[in-house]
Amino acid sequence: MVDCSAPIFAANVNTALLGGHHPPMPSYVVLIYLAAAMLFALSLKWLSTPRTARVGVLAGEIGMAAAIIATLFLPEVRHYQWILVAGLIGVIAAIPMALLVPMTAVPQQIAMFHAFGALAAALVGTAEYYAHGTALGTSTLIAIGFESLLGYLTFTGSIVAAGKLQELLPTAPMGYPLQNFVSIATLGASVIAGALVVVYPANALVFPIFIALCLLFGVLLIMPIGGGDMPTVIALLNSYAGLSASAMGFVINNKLLIIGGALEGSSGFILSMIMCKAMNRSFVNVLFGQVQAAKAQKADDIYGGNIKSVNAEEVAAILDGASRVVIVPGYGLAVAQAQHATGQLFQLLQARSVDVQFGIHPVAGRMPGHMNVLLAEADIPYDNLKEMDQINPEMENIDVAIVNGANDVVNPDARDNPNSPIAGMPIINVDKAGTVIVIKRSLSPGFAGIPNPLFAARNCLMYFSDGKKAMLDIIAELEKL
Ligand code: NDP
Repeated sequence: MVDCSAPIFAANVNTALLGGHHPPMPSYVVLIYLAAAMLFALSLKWLSTPRTARVGVLAGEIGMAAAIIATLFLPEVRHYQWILVAGLIGVIAAIPMALLVPMTAVPQQIAMFHAFGALAAALVGTAEYYAHGTALGTSTLIAIGFESLLGYLTFTGSIVAAGKLQELLPTAPMGYPLQNFVSIATLGASVIAGALVVVYPANALVFPIFIALCLLFGVLLIMPIGGGDMPTVIALLNSYAGLSASAMGFVINNKLLIIGGALEGSSGFILSMIMCKAMNRSFVNVLFGQVQAAKAQKADDIYGGNIKSVNAEEVAAILDGASRVVIVPGYGLAVAQAQHATGQLFQLLQARSVDVQFGIHPVAGRMPGHMNVLLAEADIPYDNLKEMDQINPEMENIDVAIVNGANDVVNPDARDNPNSPIAGMPIINVDKAGTVIVIKRSLSPGFAGIPNPLFAARNCLMYFSDGKKAMLDIIAELEKL
């Protein structure tokens, strides 16, 4: 998942540096900011495809480093010691986070980044209000209101989202009577309190009430949304955090923040819409925490007497006779850390003149791009990664489809059963291949919690094993042939 919260980091630095008054910037800073803004835009463009993603990350990093260094040269920078202390704390906290958090927990990690980024943005607005309250113009007060509303609601909303993903909070949607009314009333009260801050900036009571309402609204907004929609919600919260940073740019008169925040705001919004489309979820339903009513079939009715299992030796024999193979990775491949073993099988099959492609579903795994990142780690060439729409028309000509740790994204019920909870979600049509081999440890369901008729299909063979062990065992057997 692309973390677009970098502009907020710049904001934190900026805030630490700036006093209450913001004189015009020196022209060399403006020029560096312009270059940084261009690098941010290019970075987002390059991040949109695996081939250029690494350059995209580098461009974003260079842009951010340039922006931070340029900010240090602003005339209003008066002290460096606190910046150094804050920077050190950030580095000390970030290194173990980067090294220790498993990739499967990245969505909740990103949620926490958004929580603190948004809090930083909101606190800047709060500081500006308390430092200069009555001296601020109406437009600045409106910007502070906007920044605080989005910043504080993103702070509490992101913490709830991270709690749900980490299963510290119940993952099921937590609805209650009059839920939408209570949420909308709280939002309305927040907006009214924000308007009162603009009209009566000298009133000491209104601003704390405004903050409390924004914090409460963040909780009310995210609590009713189920864990399944949480990664989409995180993309949306990313967007709110960006818009908050953009508003902060207006407050402290920093054009790079306005641009960077707007880029983050729009990219997060677009990403959440793409994710909704890939899961066939209504964007409005996700936004307001509505649960889609649907009933899954019972696992026993589907699987009873219809499961055929195989071992590594049998899989190797099947692959020995195949000329076109598609590997479909899923969440289980990430859990098993099977990417390198998968890469080895890919090399081995290619050396035996088998055409091997990878079928990548847009929401396989737990975050957009999850599978691309894993397979890139194993140096699988980008040309062999095919998106769902590219691989599906080929599927009838494929001899063997190997599904490793994927479940929902290959569930034919999504395509064939209008009553399925995932009805309408586009899938990779592995059931159309000659033979399907599904590698997973049991018949347990995937993220959607529903059985998968693929496992009982006539042409499907189940290989019950850990995803990495299975790959290594197949390689060992294939090498004997
Ligand atoms: P699923 O969650 O449907 O299934 C993963 C499967 O992996 C499980 O059935 C599990 O079966 C298996 N598994 C777990 N550990 C291992 C292991 N060590 N070795 C082998 N298999 C293992 O994964 P998909 O990738 O197919 O689908 C992703 C789901 O996540 C979709 O429902 C999607 O909507 C949802 N989602 C994805 C988002 C994204 O951005 N990517 C965002 C939001 C939701 P078993 O326990 O039997 O081994």
